[in-house]
Amino acid sequence: MNALLNVSNLDTRLRNHAAIVDGISFNIVAGETFALLGESGCGKSMTALSLMRLLPEGVVNAGGIVQLDGDSLQHLSEREMSAVRGGKMAMIFQEPGLSLNPVMRVGDQIAEVLQLHHGVSGVAAQQRCIELLEQVGIPDAAQRVREYPFQFSGGMKQRVMIAMALEGNPKLLIADEPTTALDVTIQAQVLQLLRDTQAQSGMAILLITHDLGVVAEMAHHVGVMYAGEIVEQASRKQLFAQPLHPYTQKLFAALPDVTRRNQSLTAIPGSVPPLGSIAQGCRFAARCDQAWALCSDKTPAWTEVKGGRGVRCHLYSDGGKLSNSKNYSTNAAVDGESGVATNAEAENLAQPTSAFVLKVDNLKVHFPIRKGILQRVVGQVKAVDDVSLAIPQGSTLALVGESGCGKTTLGKALLQLVQPTAGSVQLNGCELIGLTGSELRNQRAAMQMIFQDPYASLNPKMRVAEILEEGMTALSIGRNQAERQARLDTLLDQVGLARNTKWRYPHEFSGGQRQRIAIARALAVSPQLLICDEPTSALDVSVQAQILNLLKSLQQELKLSYLFEVFFSNTASTR
Ligand code: SF4
Repeated sequence: MNALLNVSNLDTRLRNHAAIVDGISFNIVAGETFALLGESGCGKSMTALSLMRLLPEGVVNAGGIVQLDGDSLQHLSEREMSAVRGGKMAMIFQEPGLSLNPVMRVGDQIAEVLQLHHGVSGVAAQQRCIELLEQVGIPDAAQRVREYPFQFSGGMKQRVMIAMALEGNPKLLIADEPTTALDVTIQAQVLQLLRDTQAQSGMAILLITHDLGVVAEMAHHVGVMYAGEIVEQASRKQLFAQPLHPYTQKLFAALPDVTRRNQSLTAIPGSVPPLGSIAQGCRFAARCDQAWALCSDKTPAWTEVKGGRGVRCHLYSDGGKLSNSKNYSTNAAVDGESGVATNAEAENLAQPTSAFVLKVDNLKVHFPIRKGILQRVVGQVKAVDDVSLAIPQGSTLALVGESGCGKTTLGKALLQLVQPTAGSVQLNGCELIGLTGSELRNQRAAMQMIFQDPYASLNPKMRVAEILEEGMTALSIGRNQAERQARLDTLLDQVGLARNTKWRYPHEFSGGQRQRIAIARALAVSPQLLICDEPTSALDVSVQAQILNLLKSLQQELKLSYLFEVFFSNTASTR
């Protein structure tokens, strides 16, 4: 079958010649989805922007061929290219809230695109806007076109972005992490919408994602990207049945899995190398536990293996350790771990200690709905309604549910950051509801929170040392500065950060390192219970595994109890 999109040796570089996208090639057939999978910083989004010819300042296309429906995109003038964008080819972005203009009505934003690409305006444009919103499942579209983006939920904003993208009946839709910012129910709706649209129109989709769950649901073919290169290409079925490249294997191994309950996750050590830092050898060598001398000396070439798939790894090249193997059974690291919990672990699970760190009975948090000039109460929003739970020392309780089901409000009510309407919250047997400010402050040290977004939860103007010391000073922990500094060093050791990092600012750290700082901040006041509000949802799968392993080892070392607030993810069940 002829490919709709043909990308051959695409090369995108910084002005200093460091390669961001290094000679990647792939094809997409009409009606199919090709997923580009990999960690942050691997060059996935830059690939998309290269195809759209929307590269940021300082980044240039240095070579390669991009053919869409027979047209060579590099040879089009800028005027011709802007007709292609929003016409044959459209793109939707990760964060719909940032992609829409907050001070323009939604209908006006769609009408602007209609005017630009089709010369449609006035009543006809208005009518077409309503049709497009109905097509993407926005209820009451005639009313909604007059509203502003802030009046739409995250999922509805992404539907608006999809409506704008579909407006030109594109042959190729580039979707850059289209569901990362959405909860699982909305994610399923958006993915279903993309599948339905694809089935109706036969458009091809280039899907950029770090989420294996999304790949499992959407992709026909998958390219795994690492440090600017595609390191493995296969059909979805082949990849999920048997990933070949050590990097792909590690991505799968880093996924939480019920069969490996109570065991450490297989985290990928290290991080993606900086751009242009590797002149020769395999870019994954520093993180690969199957590397040997050849891997650092010689850059692995692309090797076709049976079944029409390909891989960039010396293991499969001529003379490589697995070049003659029939079944490429390289999953020892993945499969080697038994899926059965040991007897000791099973006993551990079955017999938590009897002392409850936290006990919640019939907790209610209701918010009054007020109306009219006298602000009369006309109803109640029952954010938390009659919740009871108990967490023994050293145990983890997971609170699972969609966004908006009351998990975060419950967490805040436990910390007494919102006033419960009724019920009881006991921490180590002490009733928290009704305590005065100073009494509550004494109890707060025992219960700390770790937030979802490590980028937003650390003060960018404070050094790590100040961030960690703030809570200790507020709760009078440590008799003097020297004692607090010593504790600070211990905390950094515990969360796996070098001691000298305490003089650095949050922007100098990766997402996973920032979450380690957030964990150290929570530990600084010696808590017994940590409330973890989706602590890994903003992180890559490999970094998620590192953080979950860290939390598990801290639990064993410090006998911590955890309340995990998570939305249900189908990622773990993708294999
Ligand atoms: Fe690992 Fe060597 Fe293969 Fe690179 S070439 S992925 S270092 S085995």
